[in-house]
Amino acid sequence: MASPYDLKIAIVGAGMGGLGLALSLAKKGFKHISVYEAAADLGFVGAGIQMAPNMARILDRLGCWAEIEKEATNVQETSIRQGSTDKELAHVDMSGVAALYAYPHCTGHRSSLAGGLYKACQAEPAVQFHFSTALVGVDRFEPQPVLRLRKRAPKATNGANGANVAAAPQEEDASHDTTVEVDILLGADGIKSATRGAMLGELGLTAEEFDTGQASYRIMLTRDQMAGDAEMMKLMDSNLVVRWIGERRHIIAYPVAGKTVYNLSSAQPDIHFAEAPSATYTTRGSKSAMLGVFADFCPLVQRMLNMVPEGEVCEWRLRQHRELPTWVHGSVALLGDACHPTLPHLSQGAAMAIEDGAVLAEVLSRVASSEDRKDQTASSIRRCLKTYELLRKERTSMLVDMAYHSGRVLHLGEGAAREERDRQFAAHGADGKKAIPDKWASPDVQKMIYSYDCVAETEAEFDTLYASVQ
Ligand SMILES: Cc1cc2nc3c(=O)[nH]c(=O)nc-3n(C[C@H](O)[C@H](O)[C@H](O)COP(=O)(O)OP(=O)(O)OC[C@H]3O[C@@H](n4cnc5c(N)ncnc54)[C@H](O)[C@@H]3O)c2cc1C
Repeated sequence: MASPYDLKIAIVGAGMGGLGLALSLAKKGFKHISVYEAAADLGFVGAGIQMAPNMARILDRLGCWAEIEKEATNVQETSIRQGSTDKELAHVDMSGVAALYAYPHCTGHRSSLAGGLYKACQAEPAVQFHFSTALVGVDRFEPQPVLRLRKRAPKATNGANGANVAAAPQEEDASHDTTVEVDILLGADGIKSATRGAMLGELGLTAEEFDTGQASYRIMLTRDQMAGDAEMMKLMDSNLVVRWIGERRHIIAYPVAGKTVYNLSSAQPDIHFAEAPSATYTTRGSKSAMLGVFADFCPLVQRMLNMVPEGEVCEWRLRQHRELPTWVHGSVALLGDACHPTLPHLSQGAAMAIEDGAVLAEVLSRVASSEDRKDQTASSIRRCLKTYELLRKERTSMLVDMAYHSGRVLHLGEGAAREERDRQFAAHGADGKKAIPDKWASPDVQKMIYSYDCVAETEAEFDTLYASVQ
């Protein structure tokens, strides 16, 4: 029997999911891992990211957490406040998270997380990166997938510091399309996944978009910008996540990058993208429109929003899909936002993508590989990929739903439902243990998410699940 570690694996996309997967496979012992990324480099949208203990646990096993953690903020507390008055509705002590779950809950810069993963991948000879190379089609799904790839000529890139600015589009050249045959193709190509499009198209299925009606501004303020304002500097120097909530809107904010940058990320009604559906996912927003959306929020929030330089407002459409009918076809599978895009209200999208990668490496290391019988190997690959789907789909769907419903409760307008919500927020103060309506900060939800070890679950469940799929 040949070793599964000799299998040729292609990963499409070098986002959080693709990088985490490449590293997980390399650490497991796979020798031939090619990563195809449409962008000219890793690039980054200036934004922060929350790194929960379930993500940190995997990154630590992969050997890159210590480096990423150095720049991260170790969150000790969170404060949910009324946006209009800055009045605290609930305060959650998170100082015990590291003791409870073996890893802290941190916030960081996306470039620090992606950069840490990339650096660790570069140290693995098994991982080869191909930038400016987009998947434009899948010519075969089994037994050995064939990818159609297109080289992209990069155009001019980002504005100042890359902050608040969406990645520049790239010019395409169809004349040099190439094809590559591999043993396994894994689509980590994000919300607009071409791998997903090809797979569902082949199966006569479609991905049903679920209209979230929400968009997001992402803002980064530097220490220098905030220096003259004592109230802001208190936030910058804290280990605190603040969520200001209002009707149909909220802002979540925290320090990142060694407390040199204060990150704000909002959710508000999607007006601009709704006017131009599916044209794009990010757009340069207007500062006056952004200020208008949060016009009735407290002076502290107003001052911060006012600091965003004109022309550097970036708005994102927040998208979600109904659960896909399948994540797997033949020797091809999807992971991350390609198969379970989520609203950010639980801060678990990247964490789930990185968990997917860790599980994929586990299941693929169990492929019954045969040198002479390629059909048998392909059959085992398909069963392993289906086992991955069984391990991951229910849980990710549950978290995607929870993020959606948590957002609805956060965004309630005046009325009995909101009064009841605020009563539940206040009740948390009695012992600091009660569940709260902001699921991200709720101790019961944190326990369910933070204690979860996807690798341990794979080890425990693999044999039974593998036997159940044909
Ligand atoms: C406002 C906001 C806040 C968030 N906050 C958090 C948070 O705090 N914590 C958290 O865990 N998650 C958070 N998320 C979610 C998280 O960002 C995503 O879930 C995560 O980045 C998904 O990773 P991915 O690798 O699946 O996709 P992506 O990171 O989108 O990566 C996809 C990659 O594939 C490439 N690509 C696309 N098409 C092709 C192609 N055809 N060929 C080759 N390459 C291609 C892209 O260029 C990109 O590099 C947030 C999301 C939003 C919108």
